[in-house]
Amino acid sequence: MSTKGVIHRVAGPVVTAVGISPKMYDVVYVGNEGLMGEVIKIVGDHSIIQVYEDTSGVKPGEPVTNTGLPLVVELGPGLLTSVYDGIQRPLPVLRDKMGDYIFRGVTAPGLDREKKWDFKPTVKNGEEVEAGQVIGTVMEGSITHKIMVPPNFKKGKIKDISAGKYKVEDVIAKIDGQAVSLMQKWPVRESRPVKDKHQPAEPLVTGLRVLDTMFPLAKGGAAAIPGAFGTGKTVTQQSLAKYSNAKIVVYIGCGERGNEMTEVLTEFPELLDPSTGESLMNRTVLIANTSNMPVAAREASVYTGITIAEYFRDMGYDVSLMADSTSRWAEAMREISSRLEEMPGEEGFPAYLAGRLSEFYERACKAQALSGAEGSISVIGAVSPPGGDLSEPVTQNTLRIVRVFWALDTKLRERRHFPSINWLTSYTMYDKQLSGWYKQNVAEDFPDLKAWAMQILQKESELEEVVQMVGSDSLPDEQKVTLEIARMIREIFLQQNAYHPIDAYCPIKRQYVMLTLIKKYSDLANNALASGAQVDKIAYLPVRQRFIQAKYEENIDSELEAVAKDMETQFAGLGA
Ligand code: ADP
Ligand code: MG
Repeated sequence: MSTKGVIHRVAGPVVTAVGISPKMYDVVYVGNEGLMGEVIKIVGDHSIIQVYEDTSGVKPGEPVTNTGLPLVVELGPGLLTSVYDGIQRPLPVLRDKMGDYIFRGVTAPGLDREKKWDFKPTVKNGEEVEAGQVIGTVMEGSITHKIMVPPNFKKGKIKDISAGKYKVEDVIAKIDGQAVSLMQKWPVRESRPVKDKHQPAEPLVTGLRVLDTMFPLAKGGAAAIPGAFGTGKTVTQQSLAKYSNAKIVVYIGCGERGNEMTEVLTEFPELLDPSTGESLMNRTVLIANTSNMPVAAREASVYTGITIAEYFRDMGYDVSLMADSTSRWAEAMREISSRLEEMPGEEGFPAYLAGRLSEFYERACKAQALSGAEGSISVIGAVSPPGGDLSEPVTQNTLRIVRVFWALDTKLRERRHFPSINWLTSYTMYDKQLSGWYKQNVAEDFPDLKAWAMQILQKESELEEVVQMVGSDSLPDEQKVTLEIARMIREIFLQQNAYHPIDAYCPIKRQYVMLTLIKKYSDLANNALASGAQVDKIAYLPVRQRFIQAKYEENIDSELEAVAKDMETQFAGLGA
């Protein structure tokens, strides 16, 4: 077994080495600068390596060192608020060392080695503990970071555990001779074990009306958000990162423009978490592998992110993970695959595209962790199909796996209908599973109300076809009213401005109130019509304008009550 070899060939991010005898996915250091890479193929005595750093200038004959170890992520106190590249190097530390964007061959550990953490044990010396069990805590802001026995440890009696200030590598206890520290490591390609997986039964509440009410994602489920350039993938993912009721957020910027990550980096520290009043960064881990960074590291960024998410799930937390964009990762797979001269599949993507995507999304789950605590990982993957064509392979393969589909639509975007999520083509397969939660936590009639709204929207799309052929004048009055109500659902309920301080986040109870009021308007309108009122009068009551404006008002909830009253008086005033 030789650990030292030399470079035989360099083709972009793919390097062939001879003289080492690695296992698949061993981490190796390549070239004079020791660039990090992973063995992705072994052919005879040739080891083929994807390199996570820029390989320009690296030449045959330079040395290669095999570590014999897989790519691991460091898990422990200090993860929260961190900003990493795809291989968990802390970007602020790299920047201090190297200036902007030339990070070749620099190593910096994922977790700060010097910082001391206040550790409080939750078990006593002599107690028997097993893999995954929580043995103590460290506070990170208001979040209790649970220190767990690593999943691969054997059970045994714990000793030498005591409260105190420790660095992440200090030994804090021993379990039958196995040393435990605040930090553990885990190979990124392997999902961390759990006791049991469950069907999700609670929604990830996002504060976005079209998502929470119409197409909810369950906590522990996976959703895809595909859309052409500029349709709102990033804005939506950022809204979810800011407002969703997950305890921990892992945000992966994968292959997209750097300025979007800069936005996140400047905005998040200033925004406050609605539930804790603390900076949003305190519950967030950012992974930035932007378009100017090496292509191969996109894959690493996705695996690093999901492994960090699993670690927090193991503590019993609800984690949400955004990946923007999975298409850039798929494109990296395509590039590497073509360098490997593999037989291309559809549109040049490798045949294993589907497998890789499903391995990733399947790590979303609601589970009982080894510790016994219940945690979840919700995954939201942005997909950027070229030209918005949803029939392309990345979108199609993703749709086979995920159970929630939020389809962004260029036409809606052009009409400035935001979020541009198409209500006719989007879907969720969690409706049945979640209806109990909605009935209990929002209102008994919530599922019916939603079904009603969807039906009106469906009708609108059918009527629009008729209107296009014969014009709206020929429609019967009832149908004219239906079109007005559909419009109210779109303008008042579905449209939501991500940049408006009040409208950006809509609590679920308020979503219910808003939709109830539209239904009330509809009922009153139909009664009025039956009593002989004119459609025009019904459609243009002043209260309608007040209703449209209400969502931007500081005192929105009392404003909505006023709208309800106005509605009654104004419909009564129609005198029909
Ligand atoms: P993508 O990531 O799909 O390329 P972005 O998320 O960057 O697109 O959105 C493009 C632009 O669309 C934003 O800069 C913003 O002006 C507008 N936009 C998207 N979603 C919303 C929203 N919910 N509210 C207001 N504006 C939005
Ligand atoms: Mg984007």
